[in-house]
Amino acid sequence: MEESILNNLHHIRSRIEKACAASGRRTEEVKLLLATKTVSADRIAVALGAGATLIAENKLQELKAKYEALRSMPHTNHFIGHLQTNKIKELLRYDVVCLQSLDRLELAEKLSQRLVLEGKTMDVLIQVNTSDEESKFGVHPDQALDLVRAVALLPNVRVRGLMTIGLFSAEEEKVCVCFQRLRAVQELVKEAAIEGVEMVELSMGMSGDLEIAIAEGATIVRVGTAVFGERQYPDSYYWKE
Ligand SMILES: *Cc1c(COP(=O)(O)O)cnc(C)c1O
Repeated sequence: MEESILNNLHHIRSRIEKACAASGRRTEEVKLLLATKTVSADRIAVALGAGATLIAENKLQELKAKYEALRSMPHTNHFIGHLQTNKIKELLRYDVVCLQSLDRLELAEKLSQRLVLEGKTMDVLIQVNTSDEESKFGVHPDQALDLVRAVALLPNVRVRGLMTIGLFSAEEEKVCVCFQRLRAVQELVKEAAIEGVEMVELSMGMSGDLEIAIAEGATIVRVGTAVFGERQYPDSYYWKE
């Protein structure tokens, strides 16, 4: 098991390097985030031991269950799953520095209130639904700018970029369109020059499509399967309940 995780990590890093080279980007521009849903703390620890630094869960229960076991190993936690407003308080207990799945104003408002109360700040990425699929969370691309404007007014949350889950398709052009849409939203928000908003991160690309995402400007690729192997649960369990 250890060996395969190490080999897989190595392989992913070389895929990222190649993709960066192919699009004239520097490897350091793209961060590897490990999507650790369903993966045991032991196996995550192997990846952290091999130099991975950025991990993310989709569910609070899992974050909580693995938190103590991983605490002593240096790493950064992002959160990439759908979050109910009544879970915000709990999220704040586990050193999550960035919520990548901010998709509605109500969530941002409640998050902001709680952060103020606790004297904390958090980075957020706005999750955009670029694939027009009912089965995915995220604000519609046409409404993303308005959401960013509104979130920017809230204290203690910092908008740092955008996140999307691309279409699952073997047709590269269709996947590519999703990532181009996210980039177009990024441009739009940048042009609006909203105070306090930094459009630096584009979190897009997963095990199957990270090359396409990197070609379109991804700064964070989120990889699960290609490092830890196939999962038992269907992703719908995590993406929509
Ligand atoms: C599971 C998950 C990933 C990683 O998907 P893989 O195909 O296993 O690499 C990325 N982003 C989100 C939001 C996920 O839930």
